[in-house]
Amino acid sequence: MNIHEYQGKAVLKNFGVLVSAGQSELTVEEAVTAAKALPGPVYVVKSQIHAGGRGKGKFKELPADAKGGVRLAKSIDEVAACAREMLGNTLVTAQTGPSGKQVNRLYIEDGCDIEKEFYLSMLVDRETSRIAFVVSTEGGMDIEKVAHDTPDKIVTFSVDPATGVMAHHGRAVARALGLKGHLAKQVETLTAQLYDAFVGTDMAMLEINPLVVTKQGELRCLDAKVSFDSNALYRHSDLVELRDLTEEDEKEIEASKYDLNYIALEGTIGCMVNGAGLAMATMDIIKLYGATPANFLDVGGGATKEKVAAAFRIITSDPHVEGILVNIFGGIMRCDVVAEGVVAAVREAGLTVPLVVRLEGTNVELGKKIIKESGLNVVSASDLDDAAQKIVRATRREAA
Ligand code: ADP
Ligand code: MG
Repeated sequence: MNIHEYQGKAVLKNFGVLVSAGQSELTVEEAVTAAKALPGPVYVVKSQIHAGGRGKGKFKELPADAKGGVRLAKSIDEVAACAREMLGNTLVTAQTGPSGKQVNRLYIEDGCDIEKEFYLSMLVDRETSRIAFVVSTEGGMDIEKVAHDTPDKIVTFSVDPATGVMAHHGRAVARALGLKGHLAKQVETLTAQLYDAFVGTDMAMLEINPLVVTKQGELRCLDAKVSFDSNALYRHSDLVELRDLTEEDEKEIEASKYDLNYIALEGTIGCMVNGAGLAMATMDIIKLYGATPANFLDVGGGATKEKVAAAFRIITSDPHVEGILVNIFGGIMRCDVVAEGVVAAVREAGLTVPLVVRLEGTNVELGKKIIKESGLNVVSASDLDDAAQKIVRATRREAA
């Protein structure tokens, strides 16, 4: 689960991490009030969307030479002007995709005098099964580019969970960033605080880009990108409340209500499959025959008729879907339950695109009978290969 920068900073602050003063706001008036509460004379107006690269981003509604989604303002009037330009408009960044994200919230932050910008991130390294630190002196820029062009400027190490974070880890970060004296001490403290925050809240990823040294000689986290491990959210009810549904795909929200494993994709063939492996294979074979899947969807093992119907509704609600492939290999999942779910969903919402169904396994004859007797316009397929070819052909015919 991803959260906004202002929320991430509040979480980190609870662990003692140094962040700038600031407040998150929804209107221009609130932004002005928030700025007045800060010392000034420089304020930073920051778009709150679940994507990075905001500073270099572009607003769709503004001229191409307009400033991006993170702006310095040198007066309260400038804060108001920035807020007016940003709120309600669509910010496109390297991470949002071409459709961009609407800015509904701003974060008004105390502007600081930056001496140097660093990069620091933490993630769960699956290879070592440990939490890893990634540190670089090249902060404030695209870390993928740094990794590609100057990989020697990136230092990584991981922490043994048996010992937890230790003083030498802090020293390793200080060394990597070339910090000495009291700044080295500050970064050693910060390393321990970040590790505690990461473990204490079950984060999956934490990225601070930039971590800065100010002209006053202070270390500060100027940006915070936090994502939590969704599988651990059951033990953090306070963090669940930070979820911002307006940032998520509506179809994915609906799917999570029914406990469906659904991920929206960009293609045109909607897929309803049981089992993650079969879902992957189905997506692969659709690609093999020249089309692209509109989603990943695993309805799971013991899905009910209601769950199957919900899954089918979610697929048909996607305007990009030009055809649907139901591919079920019934083991625990029974083919008749799938058939009933599909028939119920189509009766309720109708069906305007071709549907190919391939059923195999438990209660397959009953499943086929239910579909046949429903009178629905369904193309049946004998195996996965046949099914993929049929749905790709059917959508091509529709398009022609
Ligand atoms: P993004 O990574 O989405 O572009 P950041 O929060 O990193 O957003 O902001 C972009 C840049 O704006 C930073 O690299 C930094 O140079 C500057 N910046 C951000 N917050 C402040 C602040 N409080 N004071 C001064 N400069 C800031
Ligand atoms: Mg940043």
